[in-house]
Amino acid sequence: MPVTYKILVCRMGAGPELVEVESPFKWAKKLLGGEDAYIEVAYLDDGVQIFLDEDGIGKGLGINRLIPARAPVVPEGVFVIDMTDGRAAPPGTIGYHEIRGDFILTRHNLREDEPESLTPEDIQKYTTLLGGLPPCPNCGNKPAYAGAVYCGAECAAEAGA
Ligand SMILES: [Zn+2]
Repeated sequence: MPVTYKILVCRMGAGPELVEVESPFKWAKKLLGGEDAYIEVAYLDDGVQIFLDEDGIGKGLGINRLIPARAPVVPEGVFVIDMTDGRAAPPGTIGYHEIRGDFILTRHNLREDEPESLTPEDIQKYTTLLGGLPPCPNCGNKPAYAGAVYCGAECAAEAGA
């Protein structure tokens, strides 16, 4: 069996969706238009990364989500040219990644510089942050209704809730 990765996909106007894929990078390329798509990577503070369309502004894509992240601290002697008309957060402060168009989230394996599966904690956190229902903590399926924690009575009973 091939190795698979759990990722979240967040399409314009839709809640986040958990999918299992063989290559997060190839999957993101296909999502964003195929071979001609250029992927930009945005890093979040907790080791999760975003794969998004590098040319979202050029293609006129709307803002899908604003995702908080701390602006990197710039080493002394390095100058930053602000390309955002002053909207970029000052170094070291919390700002937002302005994500245009569809995107995916994976965890970033720093040592290998490769994507890896989101952890159950990542999935809970980002499903909530991106406006969806967090998956059932017992089986990972969708909860039965808004506000429910477990997908059904069986899972709630198994979890001792
Ligand atoms: Zn369940």
